[in-house]
Amino acid sequence: MKAGEIFIGGDWRQPVASETYQPINPANEEPLAAVGKGDERDIDLAIAAARKAFDEGPWPRMGAHERGRIVWRLGDLIQQNLDEMARLESLCTGKTLFDSGKVEIPFAADVFRYYAGWATKIHGETLQLRDNAFTFTLRQPVGVIGAIVPWNFPFLLSSWKLGPALAAGNTVVLKPASQTPFTALKFAELCQEAGLPPGVVNVVTGPGGKVGMAMVRDPRVDKIAFTGSTEVGKQIMREAAGTLKRLSLELGGKSPNIVFADADMEAAVRGAMTGIFYNKGEVCAAGSRLFVEEPIHDEFVSKLTDRVKTLKVGDPMDKSTRMGPVVSKAQMDTVMSYIEAGNREGAKLVAGGKRAGSGKGYFVEPTIFDGVSNTMTIAREEIFGPVLSVIPFRSVDDGLAQGNATTYGLAAAVWTRDVAKALKAARAIRAGTVWVNAYNLFDAALPFGGFKESGFGREMGSVGLDHYTEVKTVWVDLS
Ligand code: NAD
Repeated sequence: MKAGEIFIGGDWRQPVASETYQPINPANEEPLAAVGKGDERDIDLAIAAARKAFDEGPWPRMGAHERGRIVWRLGDLIQQNLDEMARLESLCTGKTLFDSGKVEIPFAADVFRYYAGWATKIHGETLQLRDNAFTFTLRQPVGVIGAIVPWNFPFLLSSWKLGPALAAGNTVVLKPASQTPFTALKFAELCQEAGLPPGVVNVVTGPGGKVGMAMVRDPRVDKIAFTGSTEVGKQIMREAAGTLKRLSLELGGKSPNIVFADADMEAAVRGAMTGIFYNKGEVCAAGSRLFVEEPIHDEFVSKLTDRVKTLKVGDPMDKSTRMGPVVSKAQMDTVMSYIEAGNREGAKLVAGGKRAGSGKGYFVEPTIFDGVSNTMTIAREEIFGPVLSVIPFRSVDDGLAQGNATTYGLAAAVWTRDVAKALKAARAIRAGTVWVNAYNLFDAALPFGGFKESGFGREMGSVGLDHYTEVKTVWVDLS
């Protein structure tokens, strides 16, 4: 691959317009390597290549064992290229090398291996309904998948789509976020090395509004797998209606992290930190609303503010750094405007609140507001940055009711030593994932996705395959 190229039909080529752009390194504001600025014409070519690979190519009809072996090999290659993948991810996202190298790229490799195993286990059912007929179902690949991913976990979230899509025999056009294209391009190289037939995976970089929307509108694309903001998710849903496209939407969140008075306080403080400051709060499932039961509220907030002082903010490439810069100037400005809103609406700033660092880079201090009410802007809207709202509550029912008082429903956590309380909460909270005495734990085998305006469809786990297969009924008349 040369700088500025995109990957279509198994070949590297310049975008039709021969234009490039340079993503910015958020840690120093310097431009990074040139990347192809694809447009509708490139998407057209990529969809044609994916369509051909699906309609004519060996991939959907290849033996499941063989397909599974190739998907497994992708997992191995990701692991073998871990250092480079982690560096590429950290350079443009600002996430620490620790997060990309120790957590996210290895997790993505696991996702491919998990779904490699599924390739031979996708099956229909035989239904014994009557003597004069043989009836059964087939589960077949959906076809061409348009995968659109955001900038916060560029490669990991791609793997949640690519793993099941490929294992089930689909072909894919992947569109990474324009800020964070590098691991998607590296992955295309690994697809060549793994022996994936041409056109099975295509990668087009470029601006989302143009490139992404062209995929959503195109009738040759059978399904869009989108992760991103609720606002863009709604636009996609409207546009996808034109061709009645299959959709899975993993959208935003404003997740409640609820600490009851009987919780293990040290563990809950650590969980509150991970919940909001992992990946600088640019996490769809971030525990951005921390509910603390009144009897322990003051002590809890004091421990939390002490601990936040130990969080090392700085160069994401330094292995001791625990929080890097937010992804872009636009994102930093958004985060700072929410901090202003918190101050203006009367929340009590108890940690952070300013830009961090003395020189260049989009660093924001880890910020905590106490005395927040659920109606304030910072408690209602997704900030997608290192800003925590602490909200006191009075009783189990009050905590659960306030936790549920949001338009989102992606994730939640409860902290308690009482198993009955934990299970009551797990049932009552309207969110796709509920952690008990933990935060931000994921596994390739466990489904993840949203209730309400956090989207629909689940990624990962066996149910993750449902979006990448169509069920067909076959009736053989024997009379
Ligand atoms: P975004 O919606 O702006 O962009 C997401 C992707 O869509 C990018 O690739 C972008 O280029 C593309 N895009 C933008 N406009 C488009 C359009 N009109 N048509 C088609 N594609 C378009 O989101 P973002 O700012 O990159 O990411 C942050 C958001 O993603 C947050 O809201 C976060 O909660 C959400 N997110 C959700 C999950 C989840 O699993 N639920 C995971 C991570 C991030």
